[in-house]
Amino acid sequence: MSMPAEPTGALSQFHGGLKLEGHKHLSTRTPIALMPPQDRYIIPLMQHIGQAGDVLVHTGERVLKGQMLAQPHQLVSAAIHSPVSGMVRDIGNYPVPHPSGISAQCIVIDNDYKDEWVEHSAVGEECFHMTSTALRRIIRDAGIVGLGGAGFPTAVKQTEIDIHTLIINGVECEPYISCDDMLMRERAREIVAGSEVIGHIIKAREIIIAIEDNKPEAIAAMQAAIEEDTTGYFRLQAVPTIYPSGGEKQIIKVVLDKEVPINGLPNDIGVLCQNVGTAYAICRAIYHGEPLLSRIVTITGHGVQHPQNLEVAIGTPMQACIDYCGGYNEQHSRMIMGGPMMGFAVQSDQMPIIKLTNCLLVTSDEDTPALPASTAHLPCIRCARCVDVCPANLLPQQLYWYAAAQNFERVVDYHLFDCIECGCCAYVCPSRIPLVQYFRFAKSEIWEQERQRKKADIARERHEAHQARLAKQKQEREEKLRKKREALKARPASSTAVDAKKAAIAAALARVEAKKKQQDVAPKNMDNLSEEQQQLIEAVEKRRAQAVNEANNETNNPATDQAHTSADKH
Ligand code: SF4
Ligand code: SF4
Repeated sequence: MSMPAEPTGALSQFHGGLKLEGHKHLSTRTPIALMPPQDRYIIPLMQHIGQAGDVLVHTGERVLKGQMLAQPHQLVSAAIHSPVSGMVRDIGNYPVPHPSGISAQCIVIDNDYKDEWVEHSAVGEECFHMTSTALRRIIRDAGIVGLGGAGFPTAVKQTEIDIHTLIINGVECEPYISCDDMLMRERAREIVAGSEVIGHIIKAREIIIAIEDNKPEAIAAMQAAIEEDTTGYFRLQAVPTIYPSGGEKQIIKVVLDKEVPINGLPNDIGVLCQNVGTAYAICRAIYHGEPLLSRIVTITGHGVQHPQNLEVAIGTPMQACIDYCGGYNEQHSRMIMGGPMMGFAVQSDQMPIIKLTNCLLVTSDEDTPALPASTAHLPCIRCARCVDVCPANLLPQQLYWYAAAQNFERVVDYHLFDCIECGCCAYVCPSRIPLVQYFRFAKSEIWEQERQRKKADIARERHEAHQARLAKQKQEREEKLRKKREALKARPASSTAVDAKKAAIAAALARVEAKKKQQDVAPKNMDNLSEEQQQLIEAVEKRRAQAVNEANNETNNPATDQAHTSADKH
């Protein structure tokens, strides 16, 4: 039995947070539009947290829609697929959306507009008779990652160990972004179906769909969908509109009044959070056999002509989405991937839409207060406003101080890795310090140091293993030599070889003697020989006599023996 949305007044509240102007109406006036196919798609191998997959195709190869282009490489990895049928044009480095503006390996597909699908099949209701492991494999092969922004491979997160509560996160708290809102309004049943599959995988006893109370249409649609459900697992919970209530730790605090331990994860307290978009993608994988080929993207901001939500194939150039929405207008100053609080500026609109692109915000500097336009800022005045708003209960000014001084031990002591990069501190900072940028810098430096340390550890282990191998080989060689020497010592002195030679010569002499005796016997048919025959016989006799003489000389000459022995040694 499903339950109606609960009033928000009785809910718990996390520390800090901000009430922000939503600007959601800009992009929610029209239904989700399907982005038309493009000539070319650029698909980065890395669109998730973890390792890139192993490339399965080569340049010039024809691929089908839904065909796996790269398979997961390690546990924390995700597959990628071709969004269209066509030809692999290139595999190489292209600019990808990332705060650092890096290029990364991508597979470029030229669309042949035939829309030919790879063979695929749906599991459907059968999934409820399948094991969690088998279902996680389907989700992994479908390339599904957390679509709320984190990009963590979903199958890895879906442990069934001691999880009792599944929270389906429809709290889209960052201003401007409305893709989850529109998805819930238009595809509520699929979200519920996908959530039920996740609940089955993790053996959850309760599934809570949490939605901010500023989304009445989404709440109504999701309420209607869970009322059709007969499992009795679902409950819908409306939560107050406070930024960043969509953070995992914050939503757990609000909905369940539980704290995730410092440096801990939600599953430490028996909870799993999944985004509504992720639940929808799982529904497509299980009930339609489709991998993750597209996502809903909010194209919004005061710098674009017709803000709206689009269903966009992964790999579509950003510029094509902007063009579809009428192009830039005169207020346009820059483009942010994500929202104004947690997003980052993208250098070029030729970059592709990736699995994590929930929003393209085209706007002016005034609309993105948490993203300082320049690095120039005033000194910290220790006003502690940042402390008051930090939803993670951190001391942002201390973190800033140590991050700026590159004292990374101290930033870890001050729980840097509990910072969710929500941007609240930077938003209220009167000195306009780009605090989140400092925190991201410190995190990436610490990760880099950790990577280097691991690399050095591996190199050291390899060197030690090599040295141990060499020592072992040396020991084995020495042991062999020792055994050989002992065996030689155990044999009678070098006379052995001489004795053998002498025995051989004696045997040869015996044979000669025997032949001689034979010769003493009168040969048959020796009468009436011709002169020529007689000469032949004499020549043979002469050679025999010579041979006997030589043999006798050899036996009696010790120098010859030594020469033979020496030659034998060599
Ligand atoms: S960005 Fe980090 S430090 Fe700043 S308010 Fe958010 S969680 Fe706190
Ligand atoms: S809000 Fe800015 S100026 Fe105030 S204490 Fe924090 S970092 Fe310093």
